[in-house]
Amino acid sequence: MKQLIILSLIVLLSSGYTQPNAGDPIYKDKNAPIEDRVKDLVGRMTLEEKILQLNQSTYGINTNVNNIGEETKFIPPGIGSLIFFSHDPVLRNVVQKKAMTESRLGIPILFGFDVIHGFRTVYPISLAQACSWNPALVTKACEVAAKEAAQSGIDWTFSPMIDVSRDPRWGRVAECYGEDPYTNAIFGVATVNGYQGKNLADPYSIAACLKHFVGYGRSEGGRDYQSTDISTQSLWETYLVPYEACIKAGASSVMSAFNDISGVPATSNHYLLTEVLKNKWKHDGFVVSDWDAIEQLTYQGVAADRKEAGYKAFTAGVEMDMKDSIYAEFMSQLIDEKKISIGQINDAVSRVLRIKFRLGLFDNPYTTVEDEKDRYLQKESIQIAAKLAAETMVLLKNEKQTLPINNSYKKIALIGPMAMDKANLLGAWSYNGKATDVETIREGLEKELKNKATIQYAKGCDFDGNDSSGFDSALQVAKSSDIILVCLGEKNEWSGENATRSTISLPAIQEKLVNELAKTGKPIVLILSNGRPLELARLEPLANAIVEIWQPGIAGGSAVAGILSGSINPSGKLAMTFPLTTGQIPVYYNQRQSARPFKKQGLYQDISSKPLYWFGHGLSYTTYQYGDVKLSATKIKRTDKLTAEVEVTNTGAMAGAETVLWYISDPVCSISRPIKELKYFEKKELTKGGKTVFTFTIDPIRDLSYVNSTGDPILESGEFFVLVNNQKIKFELVD
Ligand code: BGC
Repeated sequence: MKQLIILSLIVLLSSGYTQPNAGDPIYKDKNAPIEDRVKDLVGRMTLEEKILQLNQSTYGINTNVNNIGEETKFIPPGIGSLIFFSHDPVLRNVVQKKAMTESRLGIPILFGFDVIHGFRTVYPISLAQACSWNPALVTKACEVAAKEAAQSGIDWTFSPMIDVSRDPRWGRVAECYGEDPYTNAIFGVATVNGYQGKNLADPYSIAACLKHFVGYGRSEGGRDYQSTDISTQSLWETYLVPYEACIKAGASSVMSAFNDISGVPATSNHYLLTEVLKNKWKHDGFVVSDWDAIEQLTYQGVAADRKEAGYKAFTAGVEMDMKDSIYAEFMSQLIDEKKISIGQINDAVSRVLRIKFRLGLFDNPYTTVEDEKDRYLQKESIQIAAKLAAETMVLLKNEKQTLPINNSYKKIALIGPMAMDKANLLGAWSYNGKATDVETIREGLEKELKNKATIQYAKGCDFDGNDSSGFDSALQVAKSSDIILVCLGEKNEWSGENATRSTISLPAIQEKLVNELAKTGKPIVLILSNGRPLELARLEPLANAIVEIWQPGIAGGSAVAGILSGSINPSGKLAMTFPLTTGQIPVYYNQRQSARPFKKQGLYQDISSKPLYWFGHGLSYTTYQYGDVKLSATKIKRTDKLTAEVEVTNTGAMAGAETVLWYISDPVCSISRPIKELKYFEKKELTKGGKTVFTFTIDPIRDLSYVNSTGDPILESGEFFVLVNNQKIKFELVD
């Protein structure tokens, strides 16, 4: 019976939309230019209809523990947007039908949702994705996410998160692309391209939303929702860089952040939201507030009440109110009081409608209903997730070629709380992911090593707590094996929003387990799944090899098994530095130059001042030999381009993929520049014995300039260096 109702509904819906007739308003004419359609529609709307378009409500219950709210009982058909906590296209169509038929002008609702690292086919977290150095693959993964989301009734995702972060205590580092602005820019653009496709109106494209604009990654002490203090210099050269790149790439929308920047909350920041985003960068999409961010202006001490908060957010440049209903409640009063003009409202509404038109929502408001088995976890989608997972994993240590597991290891001990875990491998922010879709590390290994070795498993301990009762059986298994694989890590809820840790080491019980296992004298391989860089100061000396697998998503088990067995050669490199200890934070590769860069100056007295693994670190089972870097000239003019080339040879016994990271250093400048800055990278596959040339074309204004405090590039002549691998080559920029 239910089936029948759904079926008739689908028929009704697909036939429910009538083509415009001659004499219909311009906004209904799908052949008219979008700007004409927007103008025509805005001209027909009442003030009340306009205000409703600026509000986002929720459909269903938000399961984000930080944002639990009441289920919205009444959804006005003229509402601008809904966060759709469902994946049922039939439901979406029912709600949309109300909007199309019961709102006076038939304006479709924009359905948004947090599609962060996959929808149902969950792939690795963003921080891991950056370690793949393969943006083209990330684009493919995001295409899959967009398709699954679109098939489930979603038009708009709140992603990518491009908040540069240098504090791994912050739980949300899992959601960004690491410590470097350029890396965040490249992967942000790759993600936007994957979601939005070539044409937003394609049925499987969804709109992207850049978040959290801006500076959220600088959260003081790594504590969420805290104030940030960022100079205009750092804002422009670090935090705004990825946003500018993604706006240029055509991102449809932006989310304002929770934090304040040196006292001015991002959500009421006219300079950033209007002067920079809209005026300087010419963004013609819209800004949505983060969950509760408008009301929070009252807690942040810049608004006396909800009404003032609404006034401040709107006049700063926030067009859509996520969930607070403040715009719905106070906007017309603010207009009556002449605090907000109708021109401002028209501009805001036009921005929201423009994106709806670009998405094709007016012409195709409904989702085609496909069977779940045709929507999710398609073979090719899983293959992309598996390839991405494999490329994100980083071989951090491999003493005396402990890995890959060789034929002499007949008995393998598989120990640790992550070995048979599913939910935690999915990672933070994977609301439509299902633990049952995940392949565990054990399952992956059993398949990979079938008929080659025996796997003996013991959990050993849990992720935390102090129950060591499982140590004995773990030790027994370890003693009777040739090698010990220890699968440790973080629970997924230790990452993400409001998931700050005061120390980034693993809980004591996990360290204790490794200590005990090390007493057996057997080779130990640590397999780590976590959402942030970890403090490994005490664990690293106990391990012969370490593989960082991050939170790899559904295909993590097979990817890690391939790496352990050697059927996959690891190619990931870190996009975020691993400090030696938590006390070293912040430590990142592009710090500014020290006033005393001499031996024993400015160092820690009690520990080494070097991190354990720098940004860019990652080993392979093969070896790559870099030839001498060749520059096309040693002196260039501002309008010239300089080509740097390096030949890389795979001198080891296995095919692999090498990423060449090209840095620039500007040792003398009007302002002190970072020691070095990543300006370009490229990853290429190299057969055994194969060689290839990597090229970086240096464009002076793009690669040698710095930004001033208004975001304009300044190019100063003088000496520069290009750095690659361990070479540093000088060249000069002349007038
Ligand atoms: C998060 C955003 C997210 C929003 C909607 C907020 O709490 O900060 O990143 O997009 O909720 O779910």
